[in-house]
Amino acid sequence: MTRRLLLLALTVAAPMVLRAGTADAEPRGPRITIPTPLDGFTPHAAMSKVLYLERCRGNCTVTKSNVNNAQTNESTIPGQAGMHVLTEFVNRDGVAGAAADAEWAALVQCLREVYSPFDIQITDTRPTSGTYHMAIAAGLPRQIGFGDDVLGVAPLASNCSPQDNVISFSFANAHGPTLRGENLCWTVAQESAHAFGLDHSFKFLDGRSACNDPMTYQVDCGGQRFFRNQAAKCGEYEERACRCGPTQNSHTKLLGTFGAGTAITGNPTAMITTPADGQPLGVVVGASAGSKRGIARVQLLVNGFPWAEVPGTKFGPNGQANPSSYGLMLPATLPDGISDLVVRAYDDLGAFTDSPTVTRTKGAPCTTAETCARGQRCDAGKCLWDPAAGEIGDSCEYPQYCKSLRCEGTAERKICSDACNPDGENTCTDGLSCIETGPGTGICYFDEGGCCSVAFDRRLPWAHLGVSALVAALLMRRRRRR
Ligand SMILES: [Zn+2]
Repeated sequence: MTRRLLLLALTVAAPMVLRAGTADAEPRGPRITIPTPLDGFTPHAAMSKVLYLERCRGNCTVTKSNVNNAQTNESTIPGQAGMHVLTEFVNRDGVAGAAADAEWAALVQCLREVYSPFDIQITDTRPTSGTYHMAIAAGLPRQIGFGDDVLGVAPLASNCSPQDNVISFSFANAHGPTLRGENLCWTVAQESAHAFGLDHSFKFLDGRSACNDPMTYQVDCGGQRFFRNQAAKCGEYEERACRCGPTQNSHTKLLGTFGAGTAITGNPTAMITTPADGQPLGVVVGASAGSKRGIARVQLLVNGFPWAEVPGTKFGPNGQANPSSYGLMLPATLPDGISDLVVRAYDDLGAFTDSPTVTRTKGAPCTTAETCARGQRCDAGKCLWDPAAGEIGDSCEYPQYCKSLRCEGTAERKICSDACNPDGENTCTDGLSCIETGPGTGICYFDEGGCCSVAFDRRLPWAHLGVSALVAALLMRRRRRR
C-alpha cells in the first residue's frame, strides 16, 4: 500500500490535519496541525469542561469564518468560503443511522476512557447553554475542501494555548474498515487535543516511539492510545522541535488545562508466578502484570523494600500485552533469609497494584544482622529494614532510611533527597535546590555555591570534600531554580 505524505502549505491560518493512505488503506496518514493566530478564536475566561461529539445526524453544516465558534458552527478550517455540508457518521459498511449506533457508542466509550484522567465531560448530546469543544466525527475531507487522504484537521493556537469553543474535524467516513474503531478514536482524540494546545508527539525521551499516544503519527504500535504521562520530542514522520516548549507531556498539559478526573480504565493487575511454592528464591522472580492503558514499570519488593525494577514491555500492534510476563533479577547483594515477595505494577499515571505476597527463602534464614544488608536487622529469619523514617533533608547513611529511598550527597554530608526537574520550578523543600544530574533530571541538595558565577560553578566546590565518584559525576553541571 502506498503511504502518501501530503505536503500542505502551512499558512498562518492552517489547521492540523490527519490523513489516510490510499482510500482502502488503514488510516495511517498525517494528522495535520494548522497554527492559527489567537484572534481566530473566541475569547474565553476559562476553558469549558465539555467535549461534545457531533455525529451529524441527517448531515450537518459548518460555515467558513475568520473565527472558530462551535456554538454557531463557524470554523477557520474549511478551504473555501461559504457553508459546507458534512455527511452523517456511517459504520464500517458505509451505513448511517441505527446501523451505526454500536460503532458510535464504541467511539464515545473509547474517548471517555482516553479523556477520563482529566476533568472534562465527553458527551454526544449537544449542550444547550455554555461553550464546549465540538468534535465532529463524520463526513469526508473533500466536504470542507481537503484531499481524500486527510483523516482529520483542527486548529492549533499559534502560542499553543488551549482554546475553547472550537470545532475539530475527524472525517469518520474516510476511515477504512481495518482497525476502524481504534483509528477513529485516535483521530478524534488527536484533533480535539490540538484545539487544547497539543502538538504531535514523536518519541519519548527514553527513546521509545510515541506510538501509544494519540498525538502520534507513528504506527509501529497500535491499540487504544492514551495521553501519556511522559515527556516526548515532537514530530510527524521525523523529529523536529516542539512548537510549545522543549518537550511535550500530553498528560501533563491536559491536566493543567482541565484538572484531574478519575481514570475509568482500572488499576493494574499484578501476580507473582515463580518461584513456585516450595521452591527456593533464586536470582529471578517471575511475574505477570497488565493494565488497560499499559504498565509503565514493575517493581519487586523484598520484605517491604524495592530490590529490582523493570520497565513495562513494549507496545505491539495491539498495544501492550495485558497481562505481560516480567522477569525481575535479584541483585547479588540481596541477603539470604526468608523473603516476603511482592510485585508492584505501575501505570504511567502512577496508579499501582501490589500482587499477593509470596514467601520464599533465599539460602538459609538469617540468624543475626551480620549477614544482612546495611541498616537491616534480622527478625525471625528475615533481613529487613524498619519502615523508612527520613524526610527530605534529614541526614542519612543508607537509602532505605529515607522515605524517598534516596540518600544522596558527599561522603561527609548525605541527606534524604528526591528527584526533581532542574528545568522546571524548584520543587525541593526549603533550603534545597535542584542540582542537575543529567538532561532533565536532578536531585534535591544544598546549593552550597552562595555565589553563582560560571567560574565558581566550574570549580566544583565539593571536590575538596572527598566526594564519591557518583556524586562528582552528578555535580558536573549544576543549576539553581527558584
Ligand atoms: Zn494532528
